[in-house]
Amino acid sequence: MRQKFIFVTGGVVSSLGKGIASASIGALLESRGLTVALKKLDPYINVDPGTMSPFQHGEVYVTDDGAETDLDLGHYERFTNSTGSKRSNFTTGQVYDSVISRERKGEYLGVTVQVIPHITDEIKNRILDVDDGIDIVIVEIGGTVGDIESLPFLEAIRQLRNDLGKENTLFIHLTLVPFIKTADEVKTKPTQHSVKELREIGIQPDILLCRAEDFLKQPLKDKIALFCNVEKDAVITAKDVDIIYEVPLLYHSEGLDEKITKILNIWSRKPDLSKWEDIVHTIKNPKRNVEIALVGKYVRLKDSYKSLNEALVHGGIANNCRVNIRYVDSEELETGSLSFLDGVDGILIPGGFGDRGIEGKIMAIRYAREKKIPFFGLCLGMQLAVIEIGRHLAGLEGAHSTEFNEHTPNPLIYLIEEWVDRENVVQRRDKFSAKGGTMRLGAYKCMLKQGSLASRAYMQEFVYERHRHRYEFNMAFRSQLEDCGMEITGISPDGKLVEIIELKGHPWFLACQFHPEFKSKPFDPHPLFREFIKASIRHRQEKGRCKKR
Ligand code: GLN
Repeated sequence: MRQKFIFVTGGVVSSLGKGIASASIGALLESRGLTVALKKLDPYINVDPGTMSPFQHGEVYVTDDGAETDLDLGHYERFTNSTGSKRSNFTTGQVYDSVISRERKGEYLGVTVQVIPHITDEIKNRILDVDDGIDIVIVEIGGTVGDIESLPFLEAIRQLRNDLGKENTLFIHLTLVPFIKTADEVKTKPTQHSVKELREIGIQPDILLCRAEDFLKQPLKDKIALFCNVEKDAVITAKDVDIIYEVPLLYHSEGLDEKITKILNIWSRKPDLSKWEDIVHTIKNPKRNVEIALVGKYVRLKDSYKSLNEALVHGGIANNCRVNIRYVDSEELETGSLSFLDGVDGILIPGGFGDRGIEGKIMAIRYAREKKIPFFGLCLGMQLAVIEIGRHLAGLEGAHSTEFNEHTPNPLIYLIEEWVDRENVVQRRDKFSAKGGTMRLGAYKCMLKQGSLASRAYMQEFVYERHRHRYEFNMAFRSQLEDCGMEITGISPDGKLVEIIELKGHPWFLACQFHPEFKSKPFDPHPLFREFIKASIRHRQEKGRCKKR
């Protein structure tokens, strides 16, 4: 059977949760025994989000094969068994890049290259580029209907319905049905307008997912169906929820998966959603609480740490525990007061770029080390842990990363100018190299030291974890740091790149050069997050902060 395609568009306003909606559709179809793949199409001109600020775009999610992608791909991997790759996310920038380089090579000789058909063909080819064995491809179109930028994408999916036929394509539109307090009424007009806009460009949605504060009553659904030209049972409430893992259950209760399989005319088994019910139950009924300080630069924008927040929730699930996150702005710590960290059970320093707030993070690491509070450092968090140990235990004055101080006398973290990438190709770079796509990206093998916290957590000899960074631990300082208690417990197979460090004599101090958060799933919490939360619970118990809930 050829794959069938579900296209998810969004209307009225942005941030309605199209990513979670698409991921939940994927989860529901998988629960019926179907195999799914998900794709995200982004209408901006950047080739990938890697060069955007997290303030603009939120987290950059990294796939195994080293693509820097939209954070929605994280939702896809967490909600389904699909694995994202370079083919799972593309932007207007990539599409034009391919078409223009083909034009330069002379592949369109004699022809005027145009949006229709050349750009739309390129978009269609990229949508259709899916592995065999996939039953359903869910394609999320970024942006909001009505944006100039998304027009070529919408035109491409409009054409695909004609190309592939009605039974092989399905349009789902996510809209907002707001409750207007002063009128004491929910309003359908924005949805009507958004659908009108879609129909003007030739797309008639088959199903409407209506974001609303409460379940929409049948008469209201009937009204939406009438005005938007969809079937009555194709108006689905996408009710606000506290826990994102409830969304598949809610959609199911509204009949979404039933309707999808009917329209696409697919036979599938009855859905088994018990694992989703269990997970929601576990999250809602934790046996204990723990409070983790997340010390970072982008703490005001939670989207910047999307996978990290989820991985902490998963670590909590594994320990039957609610993880409360205390967001601490590292710049605030620099004012000298560490009281922001009072009473926390664990301290986590996430990845990051740029020198703002660096000293505050180092102060937090010192605090965790000296007060024996469980500490978990990710990527930049590991680099700063090395610097903290270097400065304060090994007495390496002015120790730093050359990212932040080029002339440091003790460059514990530095730029490796020649390295071998995932495809075994030798790459060269220096501080002047282009910024896009030039980091160590994607999954690399890491050998674990027996008996370490890491190997006891993973219970494996080696693991593959995902990277996104330029700078590395400087092996020239290895013995000086090991002499004061730092242990290298994860290392690349050639022994050149440090992947994990730990600290002897501390109850739980572990930092890694990779981003474990990208591989954590609700049904398969990441071992390092599981153990970090476990250590934090222990710390809390020792401090007598454990009240029975
Ligand atoms: N800025 C550091 C580097 O490029 C760390 C990056 C990160 O934390 N993702 O190596």
